[in-house]
Order: sequence, then C-alpha cells, then structure tokens
Amino acid sequence: MKSETEVRLGIMGGTFDPIHYGHLVAAEAARAAFELDNVLFVPNRLPPHKKDYPVSEPKHRYLMAVLATITNPYFDVSRIELDRDGISYTIDTLRALRQVYGSTAKLHFISGADAILDLLSWKDVDELLALCYFIAATRPGYQLSDQLLKLQKKYPNRVFRVEVPALAISSTGIRCRVREGKPIKYLLPEPVEYYIYKHGLYSLKK
Ligand code: NAP
Repeated sequence: MKSETEVRLGIMGGTFDPIHYGHLVAAEAARAAFELDNVLFVPNRLPPHKKDYPVSEPKHRYLMAVLATITNPYFDVSRIELDRDGISYTIDTLRALRQVYGSTAKLHFISGADAILDLLSWKDVDELLALCYFIAATRPGYQLSDQLLKLQKKYPNRVFRVEVPALAISSTGIRCRVREGKPIKYLLPEPVEYYIYKHGLYSLKK
C-alpha cells in the first residue's frame, strides 16, 4: 500500500448529464500525463453557475457515471457533492478530500477548459489553487486564451491543460440528439445509452 506522501489523485468534476467518451478519455489522458494513481469522478448536485438551469436528477447522473467507469480499475465515482445539500462549490469538496487524503497528497482537479477558465470567479479561488492543481481538458486546436495565460501567470505551475480529441463529443450535443431521435451510439458507453432510453432521459415524451 502506498504511503500518503505518494498519493496522486485526479478529481474529475462535472455535471455529467450525461457522462460520455469525451469525459472518459479526458480522465484517462490526465491520469497518464500527470501520473495519477486514481481518478475520482465527482458529479455535482447543483452546479454553481447554473442555479436556474435544469439538470437531470442526481441519482441518474451518479448511476450513469458508475456504469461508464466500471471497467476502468483506476476510476471511481464519489457521492461527496450529491450528498451535500446546497450549491456544489468545489472549494467545499477539496477541503473535504484534503481531510480524507491528508496534507501531502497531490490533488488534481480535472474539468473542461471552459469551466476552468472561469476559475478566477470561483468561491475562495486562492485557497482552491493552494489545495489543488487544475487541469483543463481542451479540444484539439484550442487556442490558449488570455484567461488561461492570466491564470497560469497568477498561479505559476498550478494550472495545466491536456488536449483531448474525443472532447468533440458534448453532453449538450447528446441531449439534443436524444430529443431529436438521432442515434447516440458510440458517443458514450453502451450501458449509459441503455440507461438513458430505459429512464426516458432527455426525451420530450417523458
Ligand atoms: P459546464 O459549464 O457544464 O461545462 C463547461 C464545458 O466543459 C463544457 O464544454 C463541458 O462539456 C466541459 N466539461 C465539463 N466537465 C468536464 C469534464 N469533467 N471533463 C471534460 N470536459 C468537461 O461545467 P460544469 O460541469 O458545470 O462544471 C465543471 C466543474 O467545475 C464542476 O465540478 C463544477 O462543480 C465546477 N465549478 C465550480 C465552481 C465553483 O466552485 N464556484 C464554478 C463553476 C464550476 P460537457 O457538457 O460535455 O460536459
């Protein structure tokens, strides 16, 4: 068993409505590039910047994440944000995980570049950057924006990026395809596809 000092944990934060191959490839790419021991998928309960935006029930997003990650021995799914009432601020999650994994564990928060580029507006940003490294997953050809350069300048060696070709897939695109009756096969793991149809998610005919 590894000592606490050696633990390198990836924390894959997102709404995952639904989880898809872009998320899975991003997590695996970050795991390899940053030599992470494990990646913990953390579906949020109430995304901080989408308070008035309807998202699927937490239980559905959690179960789809479990189905999608079940075959990867390095992936796990956490209920930490789903079981916490109120808005899912990342700082609360990182404080809690820091308690669990100890002060010397290397925590890496992974998410979409569009979300991470807004980091300066997140709650307790200085503490966030002190607790954790941030990895922004970008699509190929993504231009380094002024925001990312600003973040990297303000917090040297704390914000990184990993390029993920499969991020051409998006949850929004999948929800639209279901609504329009178009196939979603090969955009996400098959058990997640079946789960969506079984529970009538994203369909107007619910
Ligand atoms: P979002 O706005 O729904 O997503 C922004 C972009 O990033 C979308 O293109 C999205 O694609 C992509 N994305 C989201 N999660 C990803 C992931 N894990 N890997 C790769 N791409 C991803 O973002 P969100 O899901 O609400 O927020 C992302 C994370 O940041 C969550 O954990 C959220 O709680 C956290 N956050 C915290 C604060 C705060 O503490 N104040 C504020 C904002 C966000 P898909 O739609 O295909 O996923």
